[in-house]
Amino acid sequence: MTRWLVLLMFGLLASPGDFAAAAPARAKVHSKNKPSAASIAAAQKAQQAARAAARAAARQKARAEARRRADELGLGTRHTAAMLLAGRVEPRWKKAAGGDEAPGTLRFPVVKGWFVRGFGSGAGGYHQAMDIGGEFGWNVRAAAPGVVAYSGNGINGYGYMVMIVHPGGFVTSYAHNTKNFVIAGEEVARGDVIAELGSTGRSHGPHVHFELLVDGKNCDPAPLFRPQVKHRNGEPISVQRAIWRRRKPKTVSCRPRKHHPDYVQHQRKTGQDSLDMDRVDDEDIAAP
Ligand SMILES: [Zn+2]
Repeated sequence: MTRWLVLLMFGLLASPGDFAAAAPARAKVHSKNKPSAASIAAAQKAQQAARAAARAAARQKARAEARRRADELGLGTRHTAAMLLAGRVEPRWKKAAGGDEAPGTLRFPVVKGWFVRGFGSGAGGYHQAMDIGGEFGWNVRAAAPGVVAYSGNGINGYGYMVMIVHPGGFVTSYAHNTKNFVIAGEEVARGDVIAELGSTGRSHGPHVHFELLVDGKNCDPAPLFRPQVKHRNGEPISVQRAIWRRRKPKTVSCRPRKHHPDYVQHQRKTGQDSLDMDRVDDEDIAAP
């Protein structure tokens, strides 16, 4: 019994937490007064390093889990992206994203971003997305909670793009990023930073090409955004705000996907229906 007590006490004394706590105490003995600034700084630095190491370990664990989930669900490939762009969301993806009820509203993905052009703009109204202007390096955030289904630069025209599947089978995509911070299979919360705003792919200035796909159609995200979308001068765009949980609000327009005019021309010339050149966009973006 006594032997166990001794072992237990020894175990407590020898725990790493005690060593950390002992450092400032030793400093006290040496200087009689307060611990020296240098010893406090050293202790703080050690604490910071320990916290950073713990964060890195947690991140690594989350990434390994994400890779496992992506493998299991068939997420993360160019084929996944093509399926999502074609409006096909597997039921298991929807389940992994959080179920059947749509998120209701979308968070505007760039805090200080501004409206560049919207749904149905461009030649023949092919641009069924919103372009959100911003500066290089700004954060791009998830518009709603869900699971990352694709993160890469494998789809011609879009540059670095992230695609997220949300509850209710909503899909959002964020294109032209400089860098993506998330990988396929990762779970994200509304507002999580997923990428760095940029101008990769077919783009003429830093912006996010944002698409909302629901039930195989492109939908105008503008009425769903919170906070409301603003022009560069701070004026809100004119749109009637809506909430979409179960039924599509009448004020949200959705249309079948359209191809970029360049793609149609390419298809006519070659007879090929390839993913490359598919819905490339953003011809008229002037650098801010
Ligand atoms: Zn665009």
